[in-house]
Amino acid sequence: MSDLIRRDPRAEWIARNRLHPLHAALQESPSSWMGPNGVVRKNPHGQGFIGPSGLKRIDRSGASGGAPGRETSRGRAQAAAEVVLPLFTLAEPAFYILVVPDMVGGRLSSHDRDLLGLARSLAGESGAVLAVVFGEHKESAFDLNGVDRLLQLDGGEYAGYAPEQQVQALAAVEREFNPRHWLLPDSRSGGGELGRRLAALLGERPATRVWQVKDGQCIGRAGAGRQDLARPTPRLILAAAECAEPVTDRRHEVRAVTLQHAVPRGLPRIEDLGAVTVDPAAIPMAEAEFILSGGNGVKDWALFHRAAAALGATEGASRVAVDDGFMGRDRQVGASGTWVTARVYLAVGISGAIQHLQGIGACDKVLAINLDPGCDMIKRADLAVIGDGAAILEALIARIAAHRQGGARDVA
Ligand code: FAD
Repeated sequence: MSDLIRRDPRAEWIARNRLHPLHAALQESPSSWMGPNGVVRKNPHGQGFIGPSGLKRIDRSGASGGAPGRETSRGRAQAAAEVVLPLFTLAEPAFYILVVPDMVGGRLSSHDRDLLGLARSLAGESGAVLAVVFGEHKESAFDLNGVDRLLQLDGGEYAGYAPEQQVQALAAVEREFNPRHWLLPDSRSGGGELGRRLAALLGERPATRVWQVKDGQCIGRAGAGRQDLARPTPRLILAAAECAEPVTDRRHEVRAVTLQHAVPRGLPRIEDLGAVTVDPAAIPMAEAEFILSGGNGVKDWALFHRAAAALGATEGASRVAVDDGFMGRDRQVGASGTWVTARVYLAVGISGAIQHLQGIGACDKVLAINLDPGCDMIKRADLAVIGDGAAILEALIARIAAHRQGGARDVA
């Protein structure tokens, strides 16, 4: 690689943008500075850089690029996804850590990524993280999320809601890989149920709603979420979101593996009658996956409701829109409303006051439509459209209608 210092416009933008979730990680903290009385002060925490294994390194020669706040910091690695990270390979794993991600919508959720981060910390340098995925998936970043081995089980018997057959497959995985730990997300998207079924099948007591695993101990929520329960880390862990930091500092091999023996077909006691259409308006805000949220910049609320219906989105609102009577109080997003966790949050005519941004901190992708390119919502957004909200919503509805009729390209 050349010694040229390359600019990373996205990382620079994040470093300037105090509202971006990675902002703090990209702030340069000086390792030494002149104090008010002329004495040089040193920050012992500002020394060194985070190496590929996640350990802090101090390069006393100064030869490497790992000075404080330089490109090797954890946050910068995350921001600069296009940087080619070092590849970690493991020919003969000493043991396996099994992860069964939810893969909502065929992709790793943020909960799944946290879980893989936890798996990586349990695997260390000699163990392999083996992810088991049911059905087709659309994920292309298993390598950046710490997956060493991938077992994809995509037979028709796993399609839809099939926890009985899935748990049979996990029992086969148990026999063939004998993992040191099983990790599943303690979620309502499948992991919570599958993990409990697996525990019953294996006859092992799992640790549930785990948010920390450290020094052989794990801590999980208990007592209706009001207490912490610490216990020695068992083999089967059902972890909560944010149980660990996702992997960011190297690529992994994602070598495909298969099962040697066929999975026995159980006698299903559950019949999956297929998905039913739900009214997005009836979905509680905290559980909605796709939210269209309107603020003071929305003038035509009938159009806003039409856009939400066309998109199949759950409706949300800023406090001003609620106070003005355009939306119900249960639709308010923010510090004094609901904290939402949508995969996509589309904000129309919302300025991005801190109280509102607090409520969308856990959303995966934030899109914003606003007239003001300098407002905080635009700074926070992953994708911004500058323009009149009404005109853009009209165009969006037309696009969707054309798309449904199979002629999306004809609409300008
Ligand atoms: P504004 O700030 O008025 O912003 C309107 C935006 O619309 C602007 O950015 C403007 O550029 C844009 N716009 C105007 N016309 C158009 C157009 N034609 N097309 C596109 N864009 C346009 N707020 C919350 O949302 N949730 C909370 O939970 C919350 N809790 C609060 C708690 C406390 C204790 C306090 C003091 C405040 C709280 N607030 C909360 C209020 C918050 O401070 C803001 O006042 C509020 O979020 C602003 O709402 P807004 O963005 O819709 O309106």
